[in-house]
Amino acid sequence: MSPVDSTVVAYGVPLALSLGGYLAWGRLRERRALAAMRAAEAAGLTEPASLHPVIDLSFCIGCGSCVNACPEGRILGLVGGKARLVSPSSCIGHGACARSCPMQAITLVFGTATRGVDIPHVGEDFQTNVPGIYIAGELGGMGLIRNAIEQGRQAMQSIIDERRPTGAGVLDVVVVGAGPAGISASLAAKQAGLNFVTLEQDSLGGTVAHFPRGKLVMTAPAELPIYGRVHFRETSKEALLEFWQGVVRETGLDITYGERVDGIERDADTGLFRVKTQAGTHEAGAVLLCIGRRGTPRKLGVPGEEATKVVYRLSDPEQYAGRAVLVVGGGDSALEAALSVAEVADTDVTLSYRGDAFSRAKPKNRDKVEAAARQGRLRVLLGSNVTQIAQDTVSIDQNGSLHKLDNDAVIVCAGGILPTGFLKAAGVEVETKYGTA
Ligand SMILES: Cc1cc2nc3c(=O)[nH]c(=O)nc-3n(C[C@H](O)[C@H](O)[C@H](O)COP(=O)(O)OP(=O)(O)OC[C@H]3O[C@@H](n4cnc5c(N)ncnc54)[C@H](O)[C@@H]3O)c2cc1C
Ligand code: SF4
Repeated sequence: MSPVDSTVVAYGVPLALSLGGYLAWGRLRERRALAAMRAAEAAGLTEPASLHPVIDLSFCIGCGSCVNACPEGRILGLVGGKARLVSPSSCIGHGACARSCPMQAITLVFGTATRGVDIPHVGEDFQTNVPGIYIAGELGGMGLIRNAIEQGRQAMQSIIDERRPTGAGVLDVVVVGAGPAGISASLAAKQAGLNFVTLEQDSLGGTVAHFPRGKLVMTAPAELPIYGRVHFRETSKEALLEFWQGVVRETGLDITYGERVDGIERDADTGLFRVKTQAGTHEAGAVLLCIGRRGTPRKLGVPGEEATKVVYRLSDPEQYAGRAVLVVGGGDSALEAALSVAEVADTDVTLSYRGDAFSRAKPKNRDKVEAAARQGRLRVLLGSNVTQIAQDTVSIDQNGSLHKLDNDAVIVCAGGILPTGFLKAAGVEVETKYGTA
């Protein structure tokens, strides 16, 4: 072999192999990105929930930094050498893509031209246009656990700074919501010795409690009043909920669970607030809303729904062993709840949905439900509506024919009512954003 041939073999072959490998890897990534895009389109999951990236393709050089930076994985992909948002509705607004782009090709915006996102007006001190009503956390537009923790603490500091004396029996502040923002704000109120209550319609931890089992949670260090610095960056849903329980235990924070705030009225003369819940009224000098953007669970509005056997979230599938369970809804949470309960020994599970197909759910969940129905592990009633919930039965109308089924428990997963109406009724101005920052 001549010296030239040896040089070609020594350098050219490895180079050609790495180039071939690189091109093959690129093609595989593109195929995956296209598959994710088509699956999202087929399921109608094409609208991001809130804050998301918009990519200016004339600046994008297809380097893939944004694809690699996204902690959620497979939200962005490279198609035709340009970055695209391939799974829009799974984007939770980390914003890591925008920070990683060397070309500044990414802008983060709220809503799209076809789907507006309601964002309340919040000042730098977290106060809304209604003096004394403050907003912290995701409700104000910025998602993510760390932001919520930081904003909860800062918003409470503003309330402390601007506090006016209140009369006997009047609270300094009512904190609404016990997600990351509400926990952090409540700790700040406790540290400052304020007279306050924290009201939570559901359980501790906020949206995190609704994440899928084992979901990897990416966050960043933040400062929690009384407790100190929270150091974790990567954890699981379960570990994070355990952490919050530990914080509440160690600090002695008092949270009232199962109390939903339905309305807020401001007395024009005194400037004090009446915070109304189904359990009564709390009078306070200020209100801090840390209610996130999930809203309150949508109800069926049928006779018998007030029974204690009706819940709006699956917490522990094992509790349903040996029982007849009705799950209502057609989205991923309904399908996942029905599948988890059907896996438990001796359950008799019915999934009722008013639509004719589960078009809003992920293909993976639809396939699993079809398989479970084929194997007789799950009864699926499409085109059906619950008409009555009785002590031991449920009545369901399916396209005109009536089913009366034995029933021990009902799990309603029919989505949430967004907090916009609630905010407007309290006088808070809300702007609908159609793809703007
Ligand atoms: C699937 C998914 C994955 C995510 N993954 C991550 C992640 O990895 N990392 C990250 O940083 N962020 C993640 N996020 C975002 C993160 O969960 C939110 O930004 C964060 O929880 C917002 O905190 P918050 O306190 O503002 O609101 P929330 O966590 O939404 O808490 C609001 C609380 O208020 C209560 N509430 C609402 N209305 C009322 C009422 N009227 N009366 C009484 N109580 C009420 C609710 O029950 C709830 O407990 C994810 C979000 C989703 C949906
Ligand atoms: S980081 Fe910027 S330039 Fe690189 S692929 Fe993403 S949008 Fe394009």
